[in-house]
Amino acid sequence: MSTVVDLVASRDPRRRLRLVQWLIASLVYVGAATLLITGVGQGWMDTGALMLWLGFVFCVLAVGYVALRSGWTERFRDPSLTVWQLSMGVLAVNWGYLICGPMRTSALLPLMVIFAFGAFALRWREIAFLTVLAVTSLVGAVLLRAWYPDWIPAKGEVSPLRLDVNNVLMMVVVLPALAVIAARLSGLRQKLRDQREALAQALSEVERLAVSDELTGIANRRWMRTHLERSIALSSREISPFCVAILDIDHFKSVNDALGQAAGDEVLRAFATRAAAQLRETDAVGRWGGEEFLLVMTGNLEGIGRVLERIRSSVATACVEGHPITFSAGVARHRPGETADALLARADAALYQAKDAGRDRYLVTA
Ligand code: GH3
Ligand code: MG
Ligand code: MG
Repeated sequence: MSTVVDLVASRDPRRRLRLVQWLIASLVYVGAATLLITGVGQGWMDTGALMLWLGFVFCVLAVGYVALRSGWTERFRDPSLTVWQLSMGVLAVNWGYLICGPMRTSALLPLMVIFAFGAFALRWREIAFLTVLAVTSLVGAVLLRAWYPDWIPAKGEVSPLRLDVNNVLMMVVVLPALAVIAARLSGLRQKLRDQREALAQALSEVERLAVSDELTGIANRRWMRTHLERSIALSSREISPFCVAILDIDHFKSVNDALGQAAGDEVLRAFATRAAAQLRETDAVGRWGGEEFLLVMTGNLEGIGRVLERIRSSVATACVEGHPITFSAGVARHRPGETADALLARADAALYQAKDAGRDRYLVTA
């Protein structure tokens, strides 16, 4: 059974989807054709005219099926040949309108299906083309009927009840097709929503990764640099003082050498977490590189001194495998007009003095 389905509907999921669309179109054609055939029975329509119409529809469907099933259409930008299929639909509808006599009002209803499908499958130029085709071929049908009333053999009277029944039957053909299109549209919208959500999540993850240090999870050098520049811009406008401190873990290399790289990493993480925990909202600490950290704090030198003291006592209690952690720091207060590099150079100089003076301390530049 499944091999028959594969043979008829193809295994390729995209090709299969195109054939499903073709099948829906075919069902609408079959429904409309059935209604037309009942018209012949009622004497409203000429058998020969209907045969011609059926022949046209059959050819359209057969050519469409072969072209889609064989994959021949895959060489085109739109392998569904949507414009071709919908154009043929428009011609079939207006042709049907021409020949089906008193039933013709409802014969136009399948145009709704065609344009509803076109609305989400076509570009505006293609929709414009389809509109022009629909209007001109309908006007052509009306003129033909007006000029050659005898040549178009549609005839007869229809009872109001039969007309109503006909309208209802046509809606029974048209509405399910519209429902399928609506369902596909809603599926498409849901997919778009899901994609947008996934994209937003990926973007926020990328943003997080771009500004945080992989090992310690606190801000990275790039973010700290931006933050420093922003602090300089703010302080020049509002004259709000701020200070920076470069913190460097003492004898960190010996931790690595004695306990291994993993223990060194653990020290870095513990240091970062404890330092970050001592800060206010307006202050920032980030990993500046290796075992160096940068602290940017609003306020004056007393304020940053207190924070460094707090970090010192917090870090001192976090010895990794018996190794106490201490750090040295160089502190500098931003001077009006000073660049970030000049400020950092002063803090760095103070850090080296703190190392020279025996470590486990902070020094302030003049
Ligand atoms: P000082 O007291 O003078 O600062 O001495 P120190 O040993 O801390 O400084 P030094 O600059 O000699 O050594 C820093 C070491 O930090 C060397 C490097 O291998 C290590 N290091 C840098 N980044 C990482 C890291 O991400 N993980 C680990 N485990 N070690 C790192
Ligand atoms: Mg260092
Ligand atoms: Mg060090």
